[in-house]
Amino acid sequence: MTALFGLALTGRRVVVVGAGKVASRRVRRFLAEGAHVCVVAPAASDDIRRHAQHGDLEWRDREAAAADLDDAWFVLAATDDPAVNAAVVSWADARRIFSIDVSDGSRGSARQAASSQHGDLAVGVVSTEGPDPARIRAVRDAVAAHIDAGGVDLRRRRTHEGRVILVGSGPGDPSLITVRGRQALSEADVVVTDRLGATELLVTVPYDVEVVNVGKSPDNHPVPQHEINALLVDRAKRGLVVVRLKGGDPFVFGRGGEEVHACLEAGVPVEVVPGVTSALSVPALAGIPVTQRQVAGTVVITSGHAGADPTAVAAMVEGATLVVLMGVNALPGIVQAGLDAGAAPGMPVAIIERGSTPQERITRTVLSDAVRSAGETGVKPPAIIVIGQVAHPELLASAAAATPHS
Ligand code: SAH
Repeated sequence: MTALFGLALTGRRVVVVGAGKVASRRVRRFLAEGAHVCVVAPAASDDIRRHAQHGDLEWRDREAAAADLDDAWFVLAATDDPAVNAAVVSWADARRIFSIDVSDGSRGSARQAASSQHGDLAVGVVSTEGPDPARIRAVRDAVAAHIDAGGVDLRRRRTHEGRVILVGSGPGDPSLITVRGRQALSEADVVVTDRLGATELLVTVPYDVEVVNVGKSPDNHPVPQHEINALLVDRAKRGLVVVRLKGGDPFVFGRGGEEVHACLEAGVPVEVVPGVTSALSVPALAGIPVTQRQVAGTVVITSGHAGADPTAVAAMVEGATLVVLMGVNALPGIVQAGLDAGAAPGMPVAIIERGSTPQERITRTVLSDAVRSAGETGVKPPAIIVIGQVAHPELLASAAAATPHS
C-alpha cells in the first residue's frame, strides 16, 4: 500500500502541533533538514523554547486552529491528546497536506520512517502494515551499522563527476577513522594511500578498486608530490571518486594543502575529511594530556625535519608542551638546542613509537638523558616525542590528588 518517497523539506514550512517530548525530537529532525518549523502549543518543552528564543523556529503559544496549517507542506500532530491529533489530521486532509499522527501512525496520510544518513545516501525504513516504531528502528540500526562499518559497496554506478576526497585515517588503529572517512572509502573507485595511518582498512575494499601506494619506506624512493597531485587530478578527470588516504589529519604535516590546491587549480571538486592527528592522539593514548590546568596551557607541534625550530626551542624553555613529529633523527639537535637555551635538564620526555597499534612502545626519560635512552631502546620512526611537564610519569596520579573536586 505504501509507496516510499523522500520528501525534500528544506526551506519548506512544516507545522508541528504539540510541544512535548515526542514533538521536540521530531522538531530537531525537521530543523536538521532545514525546514521552516512552526510549533503550535500553549506550553512547550525547554528544548523547543530554546529553539524559539534562538530564532530557529516559530512558536505560537496557544491551542492550534485549522488556519495554522495554511501554507504548510507537512504537518505533524504530536499532542498527547489523540482527539486533538485526529482533528489536526482531518484539517490537513481537507487541505491536501501530508500528515503524521504520532498517537496513531495509521491515521495520517504519511508514515514515519526510521531513517539514517550516510553521506549523500538516506536510508528510510517503514512498515507497510500496522506501525511498529521499535521494529523499524531495529532494522534501521542494523542497516546503518552495516553501512558505517564499510559493509556496503557505495561506489556510484551511474556516470558521475569525478572528485577527490582527502581522508585523515587517524594514527593507525582502524577504529579511529571518522564515520565520514569510512564512508568515503566505501565510495572510492580509486584509493591513493601512504604507509602510515589506518591502512589495514584497505583489506576491505573490493578487488576492482584501484589501490595506489605512494608511501615512502626506507627501501624505496618516495613518489614526488607533483606526481601524486597529477595522479589525483588524472583519475578524478576520468570521472572517478578518488580517496586520498592519509595518516592522522590531512592538514597536519600531511601535504594536504598542496593536494587541495592542485585539485582546485585543475577544477576538480575536492572534499577534506579531517582525521585524528597522531600529534594529539598518540600522546593521549599513552596517558599524556598535551594540556593540563596548572601544568601546560600551550602546545607547540613541530616537525623534526626543520631541525631545532626557534619557536620549538622557546616552547621548551617557557614550559609549553612540545610535540615533535618526524623527530627521531633530529632528536639530538633539538635536545641540545633546548639545553643550550636554558630548558631544564630534568624536563620529562616521552617517546611513543607506533602509537595505537599493537607495536606501540613508550620510552620515558628526561631531556638531558633523552638521546642516550632513545639509542638504548633503539627508537625508530614513526614516533611522537613529547617534551614538557605533561610527560611526567606521575602527572595524572598527582593531578588527581591535587585537584580532587575539579
Ligand atoms: N598527518 C599525520 C602526520 C604525518 S607526518 C598526522 O596528523 O598524524 C608523519 C609523522 O607522524 C611520523 O614521522 C610520526 O612522527 C608521526 N606519526 C604518525 N603516526 C604515528 C603513530 N601511529 N605513532 C607515532 N607517531 C606517528
